[in-house]
Amino acid sequence: MRKQFVVIGLGRFGTSVAKTLSTLGHDVLALDKNEHAVQVIMQDVTQAIQADAREEETLRALGVRNFDVAIVAIGDDLEANILITLMLKEMGIPYVVAKAQSVQHGKVLEKIGADKIVYPEQDMGIRLANNLIRTNVMDFIELSLDYSIFEIIAPPQFVNKTLGKINLRAVYKLNVVAIKKSADQIVIAPGANAVIEEKDILVIVCNKKALSKLPD
Ligand code: ADP
Repeated sequence: MRKQFVVIGLGRFGTSVAKTLSTLGHDVLALDKNEHAVQVIMQDVTQAIQADAREEETLRALGVRNFDVAIVAIGDDLEANILITLMLKEMGIPYVVAKAQSVQHGKVLEKIGADKIVYPEQDMGIRLANNLIRTNVMDFIELSLDYSIFEIIAPPQFVNKTLGKINLRAVYKLNVVAIKKSADQIVIAPGANAVIEEKDILVIVCNKKALSKLPD
C-alpha cells in the first residue's frame, strides 16, 4: 500500500531515508530550511519544500497532519528536533520517528510521544562491528539486549547434514527459523529432517553470545 511520508531535515540520514522511501514507491514530502538541501533532493521525491519546520503554520499549510508517518531527521539542533517532534504528535500524525543524538535525548523524545527513536550512528556502529567480527553474519535484527535474529551463511561443517543431526538447539542453544535456499526459495520452520546445503542461509534466533560458539 502506498503511504505518505514527510521527512524533515535533509542531512545525510534524512536524505537517505527520503530517497529510499521514494524508490520503494511511496509519496515523500521532503522538507529542509536550507535551500541547497532541498534542490539536491528535488528530482528524487514527490515534493521538496524549503521551510523552517518549527513554524506550525507552515506545517499546517502543507497538510502535514494528513501524513501517515513523519521522520524528524534533524541532528544538531536539539531544540528544533524536540519541538518539531512534539508538534507533529500534537497534530495527530500516527507514527513519528525521531533521530536522537544521545540516550538522554532519546528519553526526552520518548516522553513527548515519539513512536520510534533511532540512533543511526550507534546502530550502524553496532552493525559494522558485528559484521566485522563474524564474516558469515549477513544481517541481523535486534530483538532484545540479549537476543537477535541472525542471517548466517551455513558453516561448511553443517553442509549435507540434517538439522536433527547437527542438533543446533541442544549443542549451540540456537533455533533455526528458516533456511533460505535462494532468493525465491525459503523453508520456513524447518524440521529435524531438513538438510543444510552449500550456500544455504540460515535464519536463526539466539542469544548473541551463543553465536560466537558456532564454527565459522
Ligand atoms: P546528518 O547528521 O544526518 O547529516 P544533520 O543534522 O547534519 O544530519 O542535518 C540536519 C538537516 O536538518 C540540515 O540539512 C538542516 O538544514 C535541517 N534542519 C535543521 N533545523 C531545521 C528546521 N528547523 N527546519 C527544517 N530543517 C532543519
